[in-house]
Amino acid sequence: MRRVLVIGGGPAGMMAACTAASAGAAVILLERNAFCGVKLNITGKGRCNLTNDCQNEELMRNIVTNGKFLYSAFSAMSSRDVMAYFSALGVPLKTERGNRVFPESDRAKDISGALRTQMHRLGVTVLQGKAVELTMAEGRVAEAVLQDGRRLRADAYILAAGGRSYPKTGSDGSGYLLAQSVGHTVTRIKPSLVPLLAEGDLPARLEGLSLRNVTFTVKKDGKTIFSEFGEMLFTDKGVSGPLVLSASAHLSCGKHSFPYQAEIDLKPALDADTLDKRILRDFSQTRNRDFSNALSGLLPTKLIPAAVELSGITGAQKVNGITKKQREGFCRLLKAFPLILTGFGSWDEAIVTSGGISVKEVDPKTMRSKKVGNLYLAGEILDVDAYTGGFNLQIAWSTGFCAGQAAAKGEQES
Ligand SMILES: Cc1cc2nc3c(=O)[nH]c(=O)nc-3n(C[C@H](O)[C@H](O)[C@H](O)COP(=O)(O)OP(=O)(O)OC[C@H]3O[C@@H](n4cnc5c(N)ncnc54)[C@H](O)[C@@H]3O)c2cc1C
Repeated sequence: MRRVLVIGGGPAGMMAACTAASAGAAVILLERNAFCGVKLNITGKGRCNLTNDCQNEELMRNIVTNGKFLYSAFSAMSSRDVMAYFSALGVPLKTERGNRVFPESDRAKDISGALRTQMHRLGVTVLQGKAVELTMAEGRVAEAVLQDGRRLRADAYILAAGGRSYPKTGSDGSGYLLAQSVGHTVTRIKPSLVPLLAEGDLPARLEGLSLRNVTFTVKKDGKTIFSEFGEMLFTDKGVSGPLVLSASAHLSCGKHSFPYQAEIDLKPALDADTLDKRILRDFSQTRNRDFSNALSGLLPTKLIPAAVELSGITGAQKVNGITKKQREGFCRLLKAFPLILTGFGSWDEAIVTSGGISVKEVDPKTMRSKKVGNLYLAGEILDVDAYTGGFNLQIAWSTGFCAGQAAAKGEQES
């Protein structure tokens, strides 16, 4: 019987363990935490957006880094396959806005619990311990050495130790060191799907303000890096929300780095001319009011003082005294409310890690290392990452499935 050791009990590791055990291998899963799936339990705000109910082409469109590498893995285990898998494990699912799939119970713990039960059913041995070294013999992994000195031997090893984000959940980047120690290249890692820091006291003053139906654009030296329509919010140190998290995936990518110039189009549905007419109409009804008291129809209350300041028009100025030039300047401000982005929020706030084990060194069909004959890689430890919407967990399931299947068979291992 082939012995498979899985290092890391997150979604990728648990899926790999179940798949390898189903294929007939004797599987040990090593997890440093007291139980598997600590991060999985907090996904989707504790509800677990486990996948996105869409075709593989749509999955690929939502991968930010190295989408092509994932093509075979998604073909082997698509989002429909993931849904069928969990339904068969007795977890009813539901699909929400944007095709996001959740357990019907809204409890992430039902997903991790189903996997733990399945591992138990399939005879997977779960050990608690942290792998600190992989010893090598003849170009293959010979043993995994644990922090407490124990040594584990197997025929095949699946490294699914996650990335560096939310390190308190156990994935603190130690998997990268293990991979590097046996000859793998780890590309530059950075937080992704993370809030962004912004210059000045504006964020703190606007903290908690949520903006819907805006366009958020990020530029570097005049060139647009990211521009999308949706929802965002101000935090004490900067900005966050869906638009900002998506934007973060495109920043500091080697070619360019912080600071970035951002603009919020507060009225994306109106072009400059139409917006000017709209402001004129509003002003015609508030002619004798102070400028700062005439904007409630145009802007959320919390934003008005900041908008007045940035407009260069004094708040006490009567609306009927505002010149055409001043009004045009105000119109430009509403179409491009400025922010300077100075950096990423911390690793503790990042939903995923961008960067990881170079996919050039991994076979896309089997997740087998091209450097080490009996080593397989799965999940966030790889240099792949996606947008929010269930796509990152889909990566974990699909790559875990491929690694588990191939490790159990061991075909073509050198
Ligand atoms: C707050 C939050 C919410 C999220 N929500 C969603 C969501 O709703 N949908 C979605 O698609 N994605 C979501 N994600 C992303 C998703 O959780 C990850 O992409 C996914 O967990 C990666 O799976 P993984 O198995 O590769 O790694 P992990 O889940 O990080 O698991 C790795 C495991 O390996 C263990 N480990 C690490 N090093 C060692 C070692 N040396 N020895 C032994 N064990 C080790 C760790 O303790 C950990 O349990 C979210 C992430 C966060 C932080």
